[in-house]
Amino acid sequence: MAESSNPKKVVVLGSTGSIGESSLKVARDIPDRMQLVGLAANSSVDALAAQIGEFGIKQGCLYDPTGLDRLTSQVPDDVMLHTGEDGLVELATLPEADIVLIAIVGVAGLRPALAAIEAGKDIAVASKEILVMAGEAVMTAAREKGVNVLPVDSEHNAIFQCLEGKNPKDVSRLILTASGGPFRELPADGLARVTRAQALKHPTWEMGQKITIDSATLFNKGLEMIEARWLFDIEMARVDAIVHPQSIVHSMVEFIDGSILAQLSTPDMCFPIQYAVTWPERVPNTLEPLDFAELSRLDFEAPRWDDFPALGLARLAGETGGTLPAVMNAANEVAVSAFLKEAIAFPEIWETVGETMEGHETIAKPTLEEIIDADEWARRKVIQLIG
Ligand code: NAD
Ligand code: MG
Repeated sequence: MAESSNPKKVVVLGSTGSIGESSLKVARDIPDRMQLVGLAANSSVDALAAQIGEFGIKQGCLYDPTGLDRLTSQVPDDVMLHTGEDGLVELATLPEADIVLIAIVGVAGLRPALAAIEAGKDIAVASKEILVMAGEAVMTAAREKGVNVLPVDSEHNAIFQCLEGKNPKDVSRLILTASGGPFRELPADGLARVTRAQALKHPTWEMGQKITIDSATLFNKGLEMIEARWLFDIEMARVDAIVHPQSIVHSMVEFIDGSILAQLSTPDMCFPIQYAVTWPERVPNTLEPLDFAELSRLDFEAPRWDDFPALGLARLAGETGGTLPAVMNAANEVAVSAFLKEAIAFPEIWETVGETMEGHETIAKPTLEEIIDADEWARRKVIQLIG
C-alpha cells in the first residue's frame, strides 16, 4: 500500500462521464492523496483533451479510434495515446498505477478490470454491470492476486464502511436503499405512458443516461442487489432493498443481534469515490457536510415489487446465478438503449428483459467465455424481440 504521505496513483476509465467528472473533482480536492496518471473515454475528444491538459496526464485512451487524430492535435507531443479495448487494457495495467477506477458504462470495462487485477492493481468499481455479469470471476481473481475490490457505487461503499472490522458471521442482512426514482408515486397504469424525458429526470442524483433509466425501472437496484451479493459474498436472500426518497442513508447492515449500522452523507458521489481512493484512511475535504437541523425528515417505504418487475427479475437472476445475471444485464443494456431511441415503451424494458431471461438455458458454474457468449446471445435475442 502507498505511504500515507504519497498520493495514490489512479487511472480513471470513463473519465468524461458523470462518475469520471466526480473523480476528477476529488483529485482536485485532495491532490496530495490522489494523483491521476491515466484517463480513458469513449469518444469525447474535447473533454478528454482538456482533462489531459489540466492534470498533466502522460497516458490517455480514446476507445473510438475515429477521433484519435483530433485528440493527438489537442494534447502535448509527449502524451502516449491508445485506442480500443487493447488501449483500455494498456491503461489498466500502467506500471505506475496503484488503483484503476472503472467508471465505464456497461460491460466494456470487464476485460480491463480483469487485466488490472492480473497486474496486481486494486480496482475501484463504479461499473456495477461487470460485477453483475462476472462477479464471481472478478472476486475470485482479486482474491487469488491479493488485490482489493473497492466499491464506488454509493450503496456498496456504505455497506463496505459498515462492515469494516466486523465478523461476517455476525451479519444478518444487507439493506440497500433506493430513491425509488422519478415514478415512485406514479400509479402502475401510468407507467406505459412514461416518456424518455420524464424517465431521465432523477429526483436526487445527477448521473449518466443509462443508470438514470435503470433508476426509473428499478433495474439499478436489482443490479445492485446482485453486485452486493458478489462484493460481500452473501447469498441473495439476505440482500434486501428499501425505498428511501431523500438518498441520505446510503445503505445499511443489520447484524444478528438486531443492531443496524448505516452510512449517511449528502447525495454526492465524491464521498464514495474519495473513500475508495484513500481507503483505509480518511482525509478531510471541501464537500458539503450533512446538516441534520436542515433535514426535515428521512422516509422509508417498501418497494413496489409488483409494479416494478425489474426487482423480482434481478432477485431471480441473482438466486439462479450462472449465466442468468449476464443475460439479464445484457438484455437490459440493449432494451435501455432502445428506450432512449424511443423505439420501445417504458414497460417494454422489463418485459423484453423478462422474455429474454425466460428463453435462456442457464449454464451453472460458467467459464468466462460462456458468460461472454451468454451476454452476446442476450443482445441478439433482444434485437430479435424488439425488431
Ligand atoms: P456516463 O454515461 O456519464 O459516462 C460513461 C463514461 O464511460 C464516459 O466517460 C464515456 O466516455 C466512457 N465510456 C463508455 N464506453 C466506453 C468504452 N468502451 N471505452 C472507454 N470509455 C467508455 O455514465 P456514469 O453515470 O458515469 O456511469 C458509469 C458507471 O458507473 C455505470 O456503470 C453506472 O452504473 C455506475 N454508477 C454511476 C453512478 C452515478 O452517479 N453516475 C453511481 C453509481 C454507479
Ligand atoms: Mg448506487
